Amino acid sequence: MKRWTALLMAGLMLISPGVVLAQASGAGEVEEKNIPIKVTEVAPGLFFQYHHEESNNAWLVTNDGVLVIDTRQHPRRGEELLAAIRKTTDKPIRWVINTHAHGDHYFGNAVFKREGATIIAHRDTAGMMQQQFPLEMKRRQGYFKQRQFDPGEVRLVLPDVTFDSMLTLKLGGRTVELLYLGAGQNPGDTFVRFPQERVLFAGGPFSKNSWPNPSFTPSMSGWVDILKKIAAMDVDVYLGGHGDIGAKADVLQEAKMLGDFDRGMREAVAAGMSRDDIVKNVRFEQYRDVRNYSG
Ligand SMILES: [Zn+2]
Repeated sequence: MKRWTALLMAGLMLISPGVVLAQASGAGEVEEKNIPIKVTEVAPGLFFQYHHEESNNAWLVTNDGVLVIDTRQHPRRGEELLAAIRKTTDKPIRWVINTHAHGDHYFGNAVFKREGATIIAHRDTAGMMQQQFPLEMKRRQGYFKQRQFDPGEVRLVLPDVTFDSMLTLKLGGRTVELLYLGAGQNPGDTFVRFPQERVLFAGGPFSKNSWPNPSFTPSMSGWVDILKKIAAMDVDVYLGGHGDIGAKADVLQEAKMLGDFDRGMREAVAAGMSRDDIVKNVRFEQYRDVRNYSG
């Protein structure tokens, strides 16, 4: 129900922005046990950590050090990520990229700062991290409580470097491209492309076979366009900030689903339906098997 409310609110946001932020559904409703964490080497030296109930990460191991994408939802989770990385390499952590300003993707930053990493994010992401830190902390109190994580251990660690449209990093003979294509799920959404490996880490905008949290997007149609753009890239493997490893078809499936959702909401609003009418009557049954659907 909670998720569905968020979806509806996002639809209504089209006509009344600002209503929505408080409606964002946070993580934290699941038991710790039985949560699978899976690390896959998707290309030589490029690892993806999939966490079914929380957020995902990737890291690239080179002779000159390690680049890490996102840092998880609490410094303790950041330590676990570091331990997972240490199972694959003892090289220093050189770079950390924060893909977007949701706490479940950057509250572990302090751990990597301590390790000496330089943290990079899009300019808008850096701005939102600063501006929305108190709100992000508030959203995640249930998560902290359930796992007995001390909220006081979370420190706001901002990026050291920001970029506007594109940034190319060279590390140990590997190339990593940070791309900004406009706001998708969030202002500042950053894509990390590994061109030789034909892999894209797609952060907030993409999650395989899952209703993403749409409460933060300034434009659903802009988000759909971005998904189509990344689907057209010379990439075979799509890694989302949530959800398992995806392919082009999964990106296009999400673009279609969000396009249908956007259209359905606009039609309902244009037809003069009230919010209660929409909650009771507007359904997207064709997507009922997609994770987080709540009818
Ligand atoms: Zn997230």
